[in-house]
Amino acid sequence: MTERTYLDHNATAPMRPEAMTALMDTAAATGNASSIHGEGRAARTLIDRARGQVAALVGGDPRGVIFTSCGTEADTLALTPDYMRGSEVLRFDVLLTSAVEHSAVLRGHRFPADRVEVLGVDARGRLKLDELDAALERHSRAGHRALVSIMLANNETGVIQPVAEVARRAHAYDALVHTDAVQAAGRIPISLAGLGVDLISISAHKIGGAPGAGALVVVDHDLRPVPVFGGGGQERGRRAGSENVPAIVAFGAAAASAFAAVEGEVVRIGALRDGLESALRCEFPELVLLVGDVDRLPNTSCLALPGVPAETMVIALDLAGLALSAGAACSSGKVGPSHVLEAMGVPERIARSAVRASFGWSSGEADVEHALSAFRRVLPGLLRRARAA
Ligand code: PLP
Repeated sequence: MTERTYLDHNATAPMRPEAMTALMDTAAATGNASSIHGEGRAARTLIDRARGQVAALVGGDPRGVIFTSCGTEADTLALTPDYMRGSEVLRFDVLLTSAVEHSAVLRGHRFPADRVEVLGVDARGRLKLDELDAALERHSRAGHRALVSIMLANNETGVIQPVAEVARRAHAYDALVHTDAVQAAGRIPISLAGLGVDLISISAHKIGGAPGAGALVVVDHDLRPVPVFGGGGQERGRRAGSENVPAIVAFGAAAASAFAAVEGEVVRIGALRDGLESALRCEFPELVLLVGDVDRLPNTSCLALPGVPAETMVIALDLAGLALSAGAACSSGKVGPSHVLEAMGVPERIARSAVRASFGWSSGEADVEHALSAFRRVLPGLLRRARAA
């Protein structure tokens, strides 16, 4: 069997051993966390432990954690014009977001399309803060209250947004601030207090938990987005539906493991990623490194071989034993120019050749070596064909 190297952690990370053990142990147990018998109480205890572990990953209060089924659901829950704080009703008239968000945010969800305003980014993929200021000012003059949702780190490029600055500016206009930290969580240290946001979304399968769990963490735990589903009173009435106990417990275990390691992993994984990038650029000067000179996640590399379609490169590398992604492969099978690179003004010929390598907890030196040998086997042929075309 061909040896495989997996460099697609931004699509989904392999499950951490701690999460796998937690998942298997919990899956074998019975008990609905809403039941008052011993089995139910045991499930509730496990969920509450996971709540603390997930809160710690982002420096939040366990009471603010609302478990969902995934990052998309956490974003959907946050993006609503209607919130409650105690018996007070809070209404948001407009959603301000950025052109590089994941589609889980970009569609605006429960905001009508004409109340979603998409702000631009610069050539390095960073939010144009002057556009944010202008939009906040314009809406404030019109008597509109804004919900601002800006991602912490981009899934395709790894670019880190100035979220603390966004929160500072938005709060001056009494806006509510959400950040999608699905890619950033576990990859860089996160402190809700440092970011100054009101709500943050994270997802289990990106940090080495099991698919099937995510969380929206609310700083003011009395603040409640109007629920997406009607039903039972789970998650203190904020998210109806019986909890996915095994996935939540595995999420907690993955969060605890990611939290304990994150400081060292930033350095270790950054060195692996940088090693791959510099070897590739030295051996294949035709390769373009998109967004190298900006604050970005230590695990993500976005590369293009102009003239070679991204899918062709991904398939050829896959056959050579290396798994990585073409553009935004989160919604798998999706092929086409990336809206992220388009928003950054990357020429279409380059954007159509962009591939993403993303490292994570299971990556090591051997992966860099295997990845390099896959590129060495594949790239010369692709380059010859591109030149002949
Ligand atoms: N937000 C970002 C930035 C993502 O990268 C993804 C998935 O790739 C999501 C949200 C959606 O997360 P999930 O797959 O858990 O629904």
